[in-house]
Amino acid sequence: MQMYAAPDLEDLPDSPYSSELRRDFPDLRFAPELESEFQAFHLERVRARVRFFQLAIGALAVAEAMHLVVIDGVPINDVFFGWLGVVVPACLFLVWASWSSYYERIYLPLARIAVPVFAIASAFGVASRSVSGHPDPFYFLTTYSIALFFLGGQLFREALFATAAMIITCGATLAYTGLDAASLIYYVVVLTITGAVGAFVYRGVERQLRTSFLERGLMGELVARDGLTGLKNRGAFDDYFPRMWQQALRDRRALALLLIDVDHFKAYNDRYGHQAGDQTLRRVAQVVQAFARRPLDIAARYGGEEFVLALFDLSADNVREMADQLRTAIHDLNIVHEESATAAYVTASIGVAIVAPRMGRSPDGAVQIADEALYSAKRSGRHCITVVDCDQIQFSTGVFRRRA
Ligand code: GH3
Ligand code: MG
Ligand code: MG
Repeated sequence: MQMYAAPDLEDLPDSPYSSELRRDFPDLRFAPELESEFQAFHLERVRARVRFFQLAIGALAVAEAMHLVVIDGVPINDVFFGWLGVVVPACLFLVWASWSSYYERIYLPLARIAVPVFAIASAFGVASRSVSGHPDPFYFLTTYSIALFFLGGQLFREALFATAAMIITCGATLAYTGLDAASLIYYVVVLTITGAVGAFVYRGVERQLRTSFLERGLMGELVARDGLTGLKNRGAFDDYFPRMWQQALRDRRALALLLIDVDHFKAYNDRYGHQAGDQTLRRVAQVVQAFARRPLDIAARYGGEEFVLALFDLSADNVREMADQLRTAIHDLNIVHEESATAAYVTASIGVAIVAPRMGRSPDGAVQIADEALYSAKRSGRHCITVVDCDQIQFSTGVFRRRA
């Protein structure tokens, strides 16, 4: 039973989450950037079980080594020593990777090598011992093949590869040591069936996990979006702008904050109706969005018929030029506005603050400057821009003030 309405994928055509959901990812892989986000999410989720699993297998490997040496008295030049030389290090390597503070970065790449090495070496060792009259360790392989899928932290394809390598090595070793055909078939069939059950069930689990990861991401995007225009909403902007500010502070870069307010919009609604007003806001929003071109820039609906654009590290001249292009582009939508006292078409006024973040200055202060600039643009007759450069103002107790 579904507990919530599934998000409508058509609402978010440019979201990587919705495009993967539409694609249905039959190969159980996402596009590279999303795949690493998913793998980090997955590893975080399974961290505790992976750590204890690898620790337990590590302890088993060491115990097995002691058993061979102390109880069985295996001579030092025996093939088992060569085998232990592979199994124990591979295992300890995995224990280290799962407990290391770099776990999220190194575990999967390391496991991609160490798990098959361990699985192959174990299959070889167990098959050799089964022949020499110790069949019990064989059941370690069946258990391990299931555990690989559910406890080892690897994803489906990698776990499948390690399991297949283990089964093939086991069969080949048994055949090489001349085991009778009936016993060989028995061992290989038992291993294949357990491996197949693990693979089949885990494949479904991973599909489910990937789907809920995408839906979670999509929900996050929906929460951050304005329903009318599809732009980021005020909450998303308020969340993002202080982080952008911190980034600019660290990098010693300037920010430009543009507040864009549609002129005479109440009159527009009164004349053409709210539906037409909504449609106009959507079109203006698209223009505003087109000016947030670089990865750190953001365009958002600030509220009502106001939009905000925050641009990272542009020269003051570039900012002025862009603001003017934006002002012109809105006018050039040619949306007729007969009630406007300013122009024949819908226009907007823009207040711009250019601020270099420093200690003692604040994101709120920057918004306030842009707001004052917008007010001044309105007073100057609308359909115009006022730019306030922070170099011409001084800071006093929480807000920016113009120098006298
Ligand atoms: P100014 O040139 O001084 O900005 O005048 P204005 O009429 O644009 O400003 P005012 O603040 O008086 O009115 C804003 C109008 O925007 C009033 C409100 O009905 C309209 N508005 C706000 N949000 C929406 C919306 O989501 N859809 C529509 N259709 N109209 C909206
Ligand atoms: Mg307004
Ligand atoms: Mg307005």
